[in-house]
Amino acid sequence: MKIPFVDLSREASSISDELINITSKVINSGQYVFGPHLDLFEEQFAHYCNVKFAIGVGNGSDALVLIMKSLGIGPGDEVICPANSFIASAWSIVAVGAKPVFCDVENDFLISLENLNQLVTKSTKAIMAVHLTGKLCDMNKLTKFCEVNELFLIEDSAQAIGAEDSNNKKAGSFGVAGAFSLHPLKNLAVYGDGGVVTTNSPELSDKIMKLRNHGLVNRDKCLVWGLNTRLDELQAAYALVKMKYIENWTKRYISIAKKYSKNISNKVIKPKTRFGYRDVFHNYIIIVPEEIRDELMSKLLALGVDTKIHYPIPLHLQPCSSSLGYKEGDLPKAERLSKSMISLPIYPLLEEKEINYVVDVLNELIDQFIK
Ligand SMILES: *Cc1c(COP(=O)(O)O)cnc(C)c1O
Repeated sequence: MKIPFVDLSREASSISDELINITSKVINSGQYVFGPHLDLFEEQFAHYCNVKFAIGVGNGSDALVLIMKSLGIGPGDEVICPANSFIASAWSIVAVGAKPVFCDVENDFLISLENLNQLVTKSTKAIMAVHLTGKLCDMNKLTKFCEVNELFLIEDSAQAIGAEDSNNKKAGSFGVAGAFSLHPLKNLAVYGDGGVVTTNSPELSDKIMKLRNHGLVNRDKCLVWGLNTRLDELQAAYALVKMKYIENWTKRYISIAKKYSKNISNKVIKPKTRFGYRDVFHNYIIIVPEEIRDELMSKLLALGVDTKIHYPIPLHLQPCSSSLGYKEGDLPKAERLSKSMISLPIYPLLEEKEINYVVDVLNELIDQFIK
């Protein structure tokens, strides 16, 4: 059996009639940037996340940039983000001219509150909470921490659409604003790039609506220097189609994760869920002894199971971060995790027999490697 780490065509072909219909509808409408599909998608997305405003933008990275720009974060400011994340979390901070300050992470891959305490300076303006793997950070503690220290709390929710805490409060509704990605690899995905900003603040929403469209207030007048980063009508239409399925697909991610957790050997560390929380398992990551990780992955691949690492190089050790002055050993937990984690295939249209095969092959290898 061959199990790809992702197979985007499965999901697409399961709804291809709807996608083709809506494509011709948009093409025949003559309206391609700003239009009824974007309006309706924004309304539905806001409703889904239980926030007042959702603003469709070009991608998740720009969503983060727009949030920070609208908060006035720029040169001279520092923003703290976790060292284990996708590069865009840090890039967006650099893109507004601010300085990323990297925080260590805990075994759940989320920002370490313990380390956070040591990183706040006079220049710190915001904390970027990344809900990595579709698991919410401890938003109660982070909210209090940000209140006490007078910092903005920004949610990088790119991997966490639909994640909830024990009060059914959703990712993107805790902080001053949330950034989502609609990239093909994310849980709610379009057929190209796309992103969304969520917020309950009318002022921020207003600013971001202008900033995503050059800073224009109308056709002719430009209030501030902005970006060109919009969710176009075609992608908004695809996102609308997918909104119908997001709950079912999310449940499927969760049920696959449950199967993995129930059946994968206890000799490796598996994700833990907190009582009442809904983690949406954008990734399902196990932790194995460092010295066997790479060989385990290549043996899995040889047996048809493709796995990945999220992420193999912590942000503070990326070559592009070199001018920030970090060195190996600075953020030991993130560094250790980067050498011991493995992401298993997880997507809604993964079949039962494939899930079982992943479990069987993995358990067999684990028994060989770990006595
Ligand atoms: C994907 C992702 C982003 C960036 O989203 P794009 O739409 O690819 O720009 C940002 N942060 C995290 C954690 C992501 O996974």
